[in-house]
Amino acid sequence: MSCVFCKIINKEIPSEVVYEDERVLGIKDIQPKSPTHLLFLPKTHIESLDSLDESQIDVFNNILLVAKKFATEHSLRPYRLTLNTGAPFQEVMHLHLHLESTHSMN
Ligand code: AMP
Repeated sequence: MSCVFCKIINKEIPSEVVYEDERVLGIKDIQPKSPTHLLFLPKTHIESLDSLDESQIDVFNNILLVAKKFATEHSLRPYRLTLNTGAPFQEVMHLHLHLESTHSMN
């Protein structure tokens, strides 16, 4: 599997992990565009929102919920969640949610 986020999930390449459970990995974006810029990755490889079928909707719902809880617990409000879908907006073809905040993380 040549997906860079799958390699990060499998710990084949390093990343700054801020959150992990059995279904989701939260990491710091390598090129932050805000004081806090995180990425929430489902551990299941799904290319994008376009390729997410209805039976997988809980994968998306779950990263949304994890990001919201993380933002609350780390006092990141106000925050922005971004879901890029397709090139040129989406660079990495593994579904992920950006969480950006003007606050630095505690
Ligand atoms: P997108 O344009 O939505 O696909 O965003 C992909 C994001 O992944 C970009 O903001 C990149 O800076 C980030 N990124 C790419 N490679 C890595 C990496 N190895 N570790 C952390 N973030 C990465």
